[in-house]
Amino acid sequence: MVLVLADKGFISLDVEYIDGTKIESKANKYTFVWRKTVERNRTRLMDKIRILLEQVDEAIAQENSIKDTSVEFTSCRLSDIVDELKEALERQPATKDKEEKKALRKKKKQVRELEGYRDKLIEYDNHLDTLGERNSYSKTDPGATFMRMKEDAMKNGQTKPGYNLQIGTENQFITDFRLFPNPTDTLTLIPFFHSFQYRYNRLPNICVADSGYGSEENYRFMQENGIEAFIKYNYFHKEQRPRYTPNPFHAESLHYNEGEDYYVCPMGQHMNRIGTKRDKTASGYITESARYKAKRCEGCPLRGSCFKARGNRIIEVNHRLNQYKRQARERLLSEEGIKHRGRRCIEPEAVFGQIKYNMAYRRFRHVGEDKVTMDFAFFAIAFNIKKM
Ligand code: SF4
Repeated sequence: MVLVLADKGFISLDVEYIDGTKIESKANKYTFVWRKTVERNRTRLMDKIRILLEQVDEAIAQENSIKDTSVEFTSCRLSDIVDELKEALERQPATKDKEEKKALRKKKKQVRELEGYRDKLIEYDNHLDTLGERNSYSKTDPGATFMRMKEDAMKNGQTKPGYNLQIGTENQFITDFRLFPNPTDTLTLIPFFHSFQYRYNRLPNICVADSGYGSEENYRFMQENGIEAFIKYNYFHKEQRPRYTPNPFHAESLHYNEGEDYYVCPMGQHMNRIGTKRDKTASGYITESARYKAKRCEGCPLRGSCFKARGNRIIEVNHRLNQYKRQARERLLSEEGIKHRGRRCIEPEAVFGQIKYNMAYRRFRHVGEDKVTMDFAFFAIAFNIKKM
């Protein structure tokens, strides 16, 4: 459909306006499975298994004793242990003694209990498998993740199962879409471009999106792939206010000597480089921040306004991100940037308005990621035909 639109000249596929919204799943809001609860219960179960095995070990299978109970038990290992214990019980000679019969019943009960624990362990492992990288999922719709929705009828911030729907638009036609389990937009941009490339065998030349997508990783990806990014960063709006005055103590306001790699603090003291801090984002991207330290802050008259920590002031500066922000600012304030920023409000936002409020498409009608994707694909085709 999109290629037909491109053929007919409705769109060029050169520009992509990207935004996301959350759409509720068909599943009920009380079908949640939370990672933290599963992990906590699994740890408790492991302790119970260890205690039970120690008792069973004493009572039944001294000859096959389970040597190391500190290791993690898997469901397969537990099944083997259950089989061994059952065999050991079967080998025991029949008796008519009341006490011995009672002891045998107790041992059999312990084995049954162990089987129950094994089944529970399988259940928890299945939950963790389904969760993958997510923190929650719905039992009815395992593809859906619990997230806060914009439409909150009860006004209590309750999480509901849903999908983060990302769309790319051009001239208010939906050119691309993809569903994500993560509620924030930052980590969705690169996979979304991959989906665009997979569909059309190319990438857009220009991307316009809001500040939710302005991360170092995203800026870098776009620069390396020749995409002109008109993407705001946090604070862009604040900086544009007429009465905005930068905080003179903020690291970004301090003078930086690029040649000799040092900052000058508001008192004129040099802050020399003391190292590099590396952080890993949720997607595995490594960010690097240079650390600079003032020589002596004790007795400084500006100490109270400058910083609150103990010792001498240390600042961390991500030079690469600052460079991307400078580029983004230049682009956004250029004539073309102003045009794209103006259009952004009437591109994906208007499409979401049409979808959610005029067409009342606020909830998927199917269950499972594949079916939900198909659900929206048909909707997007119909939407584009209607718009033609
Ligand atoms: S407190 Fe330290 S870093 Fe801040 S202005 Fe004074 S000397 Fe400079």
